[in-house]
Amino acid sequence: FPAQTDVLVIGAGAAGLMCASVAGRRGRSVLVLDHANKVGKKILMSGGGRCNFTNLYTAPENFYSRNPHFCKSALARYTQWGFIALVEKHGIPYHEKSLGQLFCDNKSKDIVDLLLAECRAAKVQIRTRCGVSSIEPLEKGFQVHTGLGEVRCESLVIATGGLSIPTMGATGFGYDVARQFGLNIIDTRPALVPFTLHQRQLEQQGELPGSALAVTASCDSGSFNEQLLFTHRGLSGPAVLQISSHWREGQAVDFDLAPGRDLAQWLGEQRAERPNTHLHSALAELWSKKLVQYFLQQRKITSLPLKQYTQAELKDIGEQLQHWQLVPAGTEGYRTAEVTLGGVDTDEISSRTMECKKQPRLYFIGEVLDVTGWLGGYNFQWAWASGHAAGEVA
Ligand code: FAD
Repeated sequence: FPAQTDVLVIGAGAAGLMCASVAGRRGRSVLVLDHANKVGKKILMSGGGRCNFTNLYTAPENFYSRNPHFCKSALARYTQWGFIALVEKHGIPYHEKSLGQLFCDNKSKDIVDLLLAECRAAKVQIRTRCGVSSIEPLEKGFQVHTGLGEVRCESLVIATGGLSIPTMGATGFGYDVARQFGLNIIDTRPALVPFTLHQRQLEQQGELPGSALAVTASCDSGSFNEQLLFTHRGLSGPAVLQISSHWREGQAVDFDLAPGRDLAQWLGEQRAERPNTHLHSALAELWSKKLVQYFLQQRKITSLPLKQYTQAELKDIGEQLQHWQLVPAGTEGYRTAEVTLGGVDTDEISSRTMECKKQPRLYFIGEVLDVTGWLGGYNFQWAWASGHAAGEVA
């Protein structure tokens, strides 16, 4: 175990390994520590085992932060194209699933192997099962007390991620370090997380769990056109995960169940074409029978032959089904959340280098910062970009 290193990175996840390899290639001696038994555990479990490693359309607008400008510099200097080139250099097969989301054809482990190969080539040392008990600032650099011994470093990079999925090794360590150095922290909360429902709401769902449909989910200023999935615990699917980043306790989420359609107009057309067809049969062209029954019951709409509705009534039905509002009981929390909103206040950090303004040579990268991406490969792109930015200077 080295007593001295130029750069010490705490956290061998996406951001930490990227930073380590970039710093190592500059000729810096780099040591990476992680308390988990292996590196990149979240990468391994990401994207359903195929790691959605970036998004073709990554732009600053795909990120939440109290300072929406903060992410721009790093994202511009290490883009999705930079990471795609790396994936291609390592011969990793990949494909676009939808909406610009790039996934490995085979398995997430390909991405961990890529990072480890880059670290090996840059002579980076990595130690797992190694916790950190304290950090002491020195006149130049830091003295760090670890489970494997003391190490002195010139630059210290905190890459310990957010609070999501504690069973995968997530801790609040990065926030503790930030507090130690007097940095502000923006309140954290689980995001990209399924909604739970009240028992009564779940009972009303009956046989629905497993059913899915395309919706536009809206809440606050957020709006996403994706799939909604009914589950045994509540609501999930990409539309719900995305909108969970905008939702606050007690708020209603608005679902347009027929996105891209004027439902009242469509029902009017159906009435003209087949006046004796019942409402529920007409709607069964859009959704499964189970879903039609559920939505009509929820809105207490009686299914009659279409000819019996006036245009105003069809308008009202359309309105109700295009603004299906529901107040979730809560979210599943950090247990299943993909990311953590909030974190180390970006006002404390240089957007070019990720260095702490108050404490020279201390860097924060990845999810521990108050930068959180949408669902779709954006969070890894932030990890790569911020890790790269710090790796170039640490
Ligand atoms: P992490 O990758 O979480 O790495 C942090 C590291 O620090 C870990 O190895 C951890 O063990 C270590 N650590 C923590 N505390 C300590 C401590 N006290 N001492 C030492 N080491 C410590 N994003 C996408 O873009 N695409 C996806 O497909 C995707 N899928 C996801 C699926 C799931 C189930 C989850 C949970 C997340 C997913 N994400 C995805 C989000 C993405 O994984 C994270 O945003 C990303 O890993 C953050 O990178 P990071 O390096 O900042 O943190």
